[in-house]
Amino acid sequence: MSTLLEVSGVSVTFDGFRAINNLSFSIGDAELRAVIGPNGAGKTTFMDIVTGKTKPDEGRVIWGEKSISLLKLSEAKIAQAGVGRKFQKPTVFEDQTVEENLTMALKKPRGWMAVLTYKPTASDRAKVVDLAKQIGLTDALERKSGELSHGQKQWLEIGMLLAQEPRLLLVDEPAAGMTPEEREHTTDILLEAAKTRAVVVVEHDMEFVRRLNCRVTVLHEGAVLAEGSLDHVTSNQDVIDVYLGR
Ligand code: ADP
Repeated sequence: MSTLLEVSGVSVTFDGFRAINNLSFSIGDAELRAVIGPNGAGKTTFMDIVTGKTKPDEGRVIWGEKSISLLKLSEAKIAQAGVGRKFQKPTVFEDQTVEENLTMALKKPRGWMAVLTYKPTASDRAKVVDLAKQIGLTDALERKSGELSHGQKQWLEIGMLLAQEPRLLLVDEPAAGMTPEEREHTTDILLEAAKTRAVVVVEHDMEFVRRLNCRVTVLHEGAVLAEGSLDHVTSNQDVIDVYLGR
């Protein structure tokens, strides 16, 4: 597995406060990784750095075979380079059907003007059917997205991101507010997605992280405190102290 993203020695200061402190992180091409850590650990800021929303004061963020520096690219260019991000709250178009949402997502990288004038081809239709299958919404293709459950909206949004074929997908607390059955389905979607791309899941729910059965990175005070299997990191005394607030 070759390295897809290499973050090294990155720091971010907000008004004199070091939110990210000499952070290094790397992920391989088809790797699933969970990022955990207490509130304020720097998880959101870390994702903001990778997606270009926040530019660090120092450090490097290197992407892909050509070792492109993401620090030189805008948020839009980073998305085009293959970094997709799912925020906690789903942002699907509620008055459009599942099929319409997925179809539009196929064209989004080419801009919204392209979306407005767009006529789906047979191959687009086949892709939408395939995406619906991946996210378990085949039977809901004709339904308005506003009628979907919270879990289904989250899956639809993951499907819309997958439509853009990102090489790295960043997902923020995908299981929040879900029923146990929905969580299980979300796990399956993410495991499947990570077969062909890198996926970083920021998550609080340890049971969910356990099901992902992947390498875990623990952030604390803007740096990596521990990394390894969930059992490895949760038996680390520093991690235990941080979670117990010592
Ligand atoms: P997490 O997502 O792990 O809860 P964040 O990345 O949101 O952590 O925040 C890390 C630290 O940086 C926190 O102490 C937070 O208060 C601070 N922080 C985040 N964004 C800003 C900002 N725009 N201005 C000032 N402080 C910020």
